[in-house]
Amino acid sequence: MNWFSLAGWAWYSYGVMAGTLADDPKQPSADVSACKLAADQNVYLSAGFGYELNCAPSVGTLSAFMMFVDFPDQGATESSPEVLRNFFLPNAADWYYRSSYGALKLSVTADTSRFYRMPATAASYNWQRGLTAEQHAVYIHDALKAYNAPIPSVDVLYIVPTANATKISYSPTYMGDVRTRDGTYVARKSVTFGYDGYKTWGYLVLNHETGHTMCLPDYYPFNGSATGLFIGGWDLMGLISGPSPDYFAWDKWRLGWLADDQIDCVSVAGTTSHTLSSLEVAGGKKAVVVKYNKTNALVAEVRSSEGLDSASCATGVLLYTVSTKTNTGEGPIVVLDTTPGSGGCAGDRLNDATLRLDGVRSYIVNRWGIKVTVVARDNEDYTIEVTRR
Ligand SMILES: [Zn+2]
Repeated sequence: MNWFSLAGWAWYSYGVMAGTLADDPKQPSADVSACKLAADQNVYLSAGFGYELNCAPSVGTLSAFMMFVDFPDQGATESSPEVLRNFFLPNAADWYYRSSYGALKLSVTADTSRFYRMPATAASYNWQRGLTAEQHAVYIHDALKAYNAPIPSVDVLYIVPTANATKISYSPTYMGDVRTRDGTYVARKSVTFGYDGYKTWGYLVLNHETGHTMCLPDYYPFNGSATGLFIGGWDLMGLISGPSPDYFAWDKWRLGWLADDQIDCVSVAGTTSHTLSSLEVAGGKKAVVVKYNKTNALVAEVRSSEGLDSASCATGVLLYTVSTKTNTGEGPIVVLDTTPGSGGCAGDRLNDATLRLDGVRSYIVNRWGIKVTVVARDNEDYTIEVTRR
């Protein structure tokens, strides 16, 4: 397929901007609104703009209340719940502050006075993948009943079990309104932490689950395939323990952490040049979004080993597709492997998927008629050329 040939391409001139030539290929579109793909309200946690599910705020203060529970069969032996509060905080709050470039402050009020005893055994809550929303609600209702005191109105209720509660095996987020059994409103969402945080993920489980309260989807596959199938370790909504856990620029834009002038939008045919700075550092241009149609886009961003991605095993220009029509857990974001056959790094084939000046420099998304080429690098700033058919 000879799609490099320019013959037959529909070339459009860009809108005339003051001081620029209408046909200057180096001027990306100034209007980014075309690239703000609208969320599909019929797709659960659609990865577009404007998804509505009473999402927790992602800019300003996200308020939360943290309470601690134990069980008749798995009682607490910690000296104080303070130990568990310190497991999550302040690290998880710091993580958001850094990832959001200071836009989001996670404010948690924790009652560390004691563990509240749940009325039923940990085993009886039947904590397994597939826990229904109804079963989850029973657990939350029981915790609120055990607490039996007013809780300040907050965005998110965190219920933290003793680290002895191995039967509370993982950490789901309840996405409906949180109310006591008698109907008193408590919060927009609840995260009920589990043993997986203590055993495997560390405090970042809070950042993953709280991402859901802000309506971010899961980027790992729900079908039982390898966790890294769609995105490797490039965002902790995929793999919490991945080497580059910072949120994708696409989501930082959606969450309000990146301003419109930090995104270049390519929505018409032609070749444009863009200089991007690394996602992990505040300021500058962070992504090029190439709109394919109303529901799909290609995104290019620069990942470095700075900031929250200090464990990165490969850096450079990361390419991924976004689909607003794809449900959570089914691959709404898919990282494109520009280095197939490399074997990957840090345990996943996609973890070295980046374009580099001194490696694979160019990638073509044939089905969409989009080509991205790295043309220059200055420290962690990369200049790329994007051709859209
Ligand atoms: Zn999740």
